Amino acid sequence: MDPKFVEDARRTLETERARIQLELAEEVDHPRVAHGAQTAAATEVTESQRGEQMRERESKHLVAIEGALRRIELGTFGRCQTCGQPIAPERIEALPWATDCVACHSKTRR
Ligand SMILES: [Zn+2]
Repeated sequence: MDPKFVEDARRTLETERARIQLELAEEVDHPRVAHGAQTAAATEVTESQRGEQMRERESKHLVAIEGALRRIELGTFGRCQTCGQPIAPERIEALPWATDCVACHSKTRR
């Protein structure tokens, strides 16, 4: 794979990683739900659940990004982890953290 292409992907991944880390840190520093608030409980539960879902999604995303950065270090970046074929550059460009090619991805989604 073109080293410049990998370098671009690494930059995208690092920017994205920093953004998520910041987002997760902010969530911890400024929880959206005040502790002990009893009023409007229904709304706050929904808010809290939404925060929980967001954190879970972002955490998973962070793991995927770190996995991609590790693959760059290992030199296996850009290869499908299922079939071992190179992942299309357009896919890497759009989703640098993708671990499988379009063919395998559509198979596992079913
Ligand atoms: Zn594949």
